Amino acid sequence: MFMAVESTLPTPVRTPASDKDAKALQFIEEMTKNVDSVQERVLREILGRNAETEYLKRFSLNGATDRETFKSRIPVVTYEDIQPEIQRIANGDKSPIFSVHPISEFLTSSGTSAGERKLMPTIHEELDRRQLLYSLLMPVMNLYVPGLDKGKGLYFLFVKAETKTPGGLLARPVLTSYYNSDHFKTRPYDPFNVYTSPNEAILCADSFQSMYAQMLCGLIMRDEVLRVGAVFASGLLRAIHFLQNNWKQLAHDIATGTLNPKITDAPVRECMRKILKPNPELAQLVTMECYEENWECIIKRIWPRTKYLDVIVTGAMAQYIPTLEYYSGGLPMACTMYASSECYFGLNLNPMCKPSEVTYTIMPNMAYFEFLPHGSSTSCLVDLADVEVGKEYELILTTYAGLCRYRVGDILRVTGFHNAAPQFRFIRRKNVLLSIESDKTDEAELQNAIENASLLLKEFNTSVVEYTSYADTKQIPGHYVIYWELLVKDSAIAPTDDVLNRCCLQMEESLNSVYRQSRVADNSIGPLEIRVVENGTFEELMDYAISRGASINQYKVPRCVSFTPIMELLNSRVVSKHFSPDLPHWTPERRR
Ligand code: AMP
Repeated sequence: MFMAVESTLPTPVRTPASDKDAKALQFIEEMTKNVDSVQERVLREILGRNAETEYLKRFSLNGATDRETFKSRIPVVTYEDIQPEIQRIANGDKSPIFSVHPISEFLTSSGTSAGERKLMPTIHEELDRRQLLYSLLMPVMNLYVPGLDKGKGLYFLFVKAETKTPGGLLARPVLTSYYNSDHFKTRPYDPFNVYTSPNEAILCADSFQSMYAQMLCGLIMRDEVLRVGAVFASGLLRAIHFLQNNWKQLAHDIATGTLNPKITDAPVRECMRKILKPNPELAQLVTMECYEENWECIIKRIWPRTKYLDVIVTGAMAQYIPTLEYYSGGLPMACTMYASSECYFGLNLNPMCKPSEVTYTIMPNMAYFEFLPHGSSTSCLVDLADVEVGKEYELILTTYAGLCRYRVGDILRVTGFHNAAPQFRFIRRKNVLLSIESDKTDEAELQNAIENASLLLKEFNTSVVEYTSYADTKQIPGHYVIYWELLVKDSAIAPTDDVLNRCCLQMEESLNSVYRQSRVADNSIGPLEIRVVENGTFEELMDYAISRGASINQYKVPRCVSFTPIMELLNSRVVSKHFSPDLPHWTPERRR
């Protein structure tokens, strides 16, 4: 269905678009030329200010701020190692555990621990660091795409549910925190960074109302839109899907100048009142482009001045590239930055390159970075300035907020250098089996979900003998597909369709809260599907692997598949398909 379209990439104009841009580019040059000295300073600052914290005292750092002492005394840790301290902070302990600066809130990562989002402590000044990184993006982009001050960006940006920890600290995703901050809300006017979406629409926590208002504004201002984006590819595809489902109502609102009564949020209604005026001509245009349900090139057709898509398509998002090419008619896709709840890492200095060539330059002022050569022991960590081209590393972080030698879980490959700063290709996140958008399901979670669901089969004298999985993103929203080979011991009482549907729901109930939130609050993941395959299918799968050189002794059933011949084999053996009949349970409150 999708054709890869060769995109014509603009060549860099290579002169800063303004004095402000020149300063930002100069800053990038300074940081990338002096990577090692900046890193040394950052570590000195972090250790100096946090010398009196419980954590650093525990390892007898005794006020030392040099790399050698730090590396010899402080252990490399995972989230689980520091979870007891995190829990104490969440419960209200205000003593300086990780940081002498008060923990301002928790950022809830899309990475989970025991089914719940990881809680990352942050301090107020981190907002400045995040904003600093954001402020570098447009100056780089302006080198490649001139004239972005002559129009607007249609960005679909969202906030998510917030909760409070037992001790009263806010816990919310990093972008929700950023969009709610004065840094974002009262940002000074910048002609290169004007959005079609009003703050009121972005800050509306109801995802339908927020999306509706943002899409409506995007349509109303269609002539001004020069770039279309979302944070991740999945978010932009959700927006296109939303247009497919709601264009009639949107066109009606534009034609009549009245707002869909489903939009009840008062600030959104108030700001839309000022923006929405009857415009039958535009309504007709939207109708003309949408009513035939031909969605190829829809982005270019509705927003004809769009120069590029601003959307991350690296890592788990690469699966969406062909679909985005289809909807955009091959517009370039710019992956501008690499960031996480723990820390914003860096930016892409060549943002108009092909998705497969994207590299991120880590900015040495953001945190202290170390690199664990992939597969090595934690005693062999390498500094940012010392990584080697071609090698893969796991990223380890020490932050101003107090994370010390923390394993992020990302695997990066060094592809080259900009000045003295290494540039990294994002390879993958460790231990992620299935992902549709921000959800990350690992092998243990999948196994646990299968076990819970198969309990429902017990009374039918049936068990799951083998399984594998697939993230089906061909349709929007994408959904998890689980292939099951069953052993039905008594065919007279084989599990019914209804039982297998309930198995789907039971699996969903067992998956982590990010998955369930995407299903329930965001509608960004569709109902989980179980495909029962014929007996002997998994044996055939093994035969196939062996025919391609796998060792019989070491063969393991792949717990996730995407290779076309294997998918074809599995799909040709499907005897029945079942879908989750309901939504799993999810509330913003944490279970633990
Ligand atoms: P979160 O903590 O929920 O903000 O997720 C952060 C994670 O998202 C990172 O550790 C990466 O695994 C992934 N991520 C963020 N930015 C990118 C990017 N530009 N390309 C690929 N993966 C990314």
